[in-house]
Amino acid sequence: MAKKQFKAESKRLLEMMINSIYTQREIFLRELISNASDAIDKIYYRALTDDQLVFNKDDYFIKIKADKETRTLTISDTGIGMTKDEMENNLGIIANSGSFAFKNENELKDGHNIIGQFGVGFYSAFMVADVVTVISRALGSDEAYKWESRGADGYTVELCEKAEVGTDIILQIKENTEDDQYDEYLEEYRLKSIVKKYSDFIRYPIKMDVTGSRPKEGSEGEYESYTEEQTVNSMVPIWRKNKSELTDEDYENFYMEKRYGFDKPVSHIHIKADGAVVYNAILYIPETTPFDYYTKEYEKGLELYSNGVLIMNKCADLLPDYFSFVKGMVDSEDLSLNISREMLQHDRQLKAIAKNIQSKIKSQLQTLLKDGRDKYEKFYASFGRQLKFGVYNDYGMNKDVLQDLLLFTSSKEKKLVTLEEYVSRMSEDQKYIYYAAGESVERLEKLPQTELVLDKGYEILYFTDDIDEFAIKMIMKYKDKEFKSVSSGDLGIEAEASEDKADADENKELFAAMKDLLTGKVKEVKASKRLKSHPVCLSTEGELTIEMEKVLNAMPGADGQSVKADKVLELNVNHDVFQSLKKAYDSDKEKLALYTNLLYNQALLIEGLPVSDPVEFTNDICKVMV
Ligand code: ADP
Repeated sequence: MAKKQFKAESKRLLEMMINSIYTQREIFLRELISNASDAIDKIYYRALTDDQLVFNKDDYFIKIKADKETRTLTISDTGIGMTKDEMENNLGIIANSGSFAFKNENELKDGHNIIGQFGVGFYSAFMVADVVTVISRALGSDEAYKWESRGADGYTVELCEKAEVGTDIILQIKENTEDDQYDEYLEEYRLKSIVKKYSDFIRYPIKMDVTGSRPKEGSEGEYESYTEEQTVNSMVPIWRKNKSELTDEDYENFYMEKRYGFDKPVSHIHIKADGAVVYNAILYIPETTPFDYYTKEYEKGLELYSNGVLIMNKCADLLPDYFSFVKGMVDSEDLSLNISREMLQHDRQLKAIAKNIQSKIKSQLQTLLKDGRDKYEKFYASFGRQLKFGVYNDYGMNKDVLQDLLLFTSSKEKKLVTLEEYVSRMSEDQKYIYYAAGESVERLEKLPQTELVLDKGYEILYFTDDIDEFAIKMIMKYKDKEFKSVSSGDLGIEAEASEDKADADENKELFAAMKDLLTGKVKEVKASKRLKSHPVCLSTEGELTIEMEKVLNAMPGADGQSVKADKVLELNVNHDVFQSLKKAYDSDKEKLALYTNLLYNQALLIEGLPVSDPVEFTNDICKVMV
């Protein structure tokens, strides 16, 4: 019997696919099971319109059988089968569609686009098999045919015997090599777990003969092994069930079963969308951060199913980065049927689903914030940072989506508040949303710069995350209120302005002398408007604050001190220390230098900035002690 050649394009494609497109070998089983399921579907749909045909559910199943002796794995189905022509057309030519035309060589190399256009799932069998044999009898035919191929070099078709309608796919599993193990595809437990992983929700039973051992009847302590046929898949996916049928526990179990995380999710979203895009989804908002969450290694994404069949483990395109913590799955019937089960980035349906999902996640978080504050705060402790990165990234493009989900510790209640809550209780004369940035709430509470603002009775937001100030710079204004650092030059609190002028004039020369002593370290020395009980502090002029300077200089590649905020040394002219300073200026220039250095270094310490010469600093302290 003459061997028929695959069409030339097929041959190239086949080799390319076997070697490059599918990253995981185990998915061959998913592909074959999906084909089998499709074949049963076809009978099912035929029966809907054909009175002669009765679809008796129990007659339809898929069976997987492994034989270690012959190294064969057989996937049988009771589906619609194939005629001789169908075998030649569907299995002999990779893309039997008339539009088999590649746009350019690049697409060929990359392969993904091809996969996106033509079904080639069947060929994935060659990733694990040397020989693939298909025995099929089509519905309504008395004849059966055997198709056989060793891969790229062609195939044969011949008449054969088959008692029932349906298809058997027999894989001659490859021998192990030094680098690759193929034996596993003949192991019961391994096959079972692959079925569970990818095909659990196929609508028809997937049966396997499973061996177990049981106590032998009539003899104590002896066991016997037995084989029984089991259905390996659970068939009804939880996402297809009605929400009213499901309890929180069901959702939590699914989360664990799927190993989305080891924590208990704070919230789940069950979406049954049947509007413009039709899909089901179950999404989770986890409680704790995965260990690698804030690293490059973390991969975001949702499981993607097409009609109950898992086609992608982590479909990244379904989630924006700022919601990368969301876990779960999406099942859609709308995904173009002939799209491959491997790559579908450019699919329009997928984009529509992603958009839809994004707004559902947002509103779920808002609801949680409103009605389940404790839970939201738990979530926020884990993932708030990611939301803030989301505000900052892409030049603030997503700030509108995210700004109402942010929380900051407030000086008033020492608890987390939203921007909305802050603004809603601002007093009428308050112009700005005040914040203080620093290492911890404890340190910020003692920050001298906050004194005037707190004295006015205004609330301050404490920023303790590196990203906070940067994110806020992107928001710029919330409900028309600008953000203001308590350390910034102008606090927008006018009352003391006139006194300030007098102080400035009176002490002009002293400040100038101090500024000279601190050349290169501060831009200005001046009387402080904001200090009440402390003698000294630093403030900044311009956009860059001291906290931002710290963050930027700590970044990899910054080499220490590349960025510098414009610092101002502020002195409390009503403090006793200031009197000593004045005295020193009048009578003892050496003492003035000593005091200036001491005050400057104190201000650095308050900011959490390093003192450049700690030994000199401690010597200076000793000098004032003796
Ligand atoms: P896809 O399933 O993506 O269309 P495949 O390469 O997996 O591409 O299969 C090609 C075609 O072969 C299918 O569309 C179907 O017509 C036919 N086929 C494959 N497996 C079976 C089967 N078990 N029963 C009936 N037809 C099958």
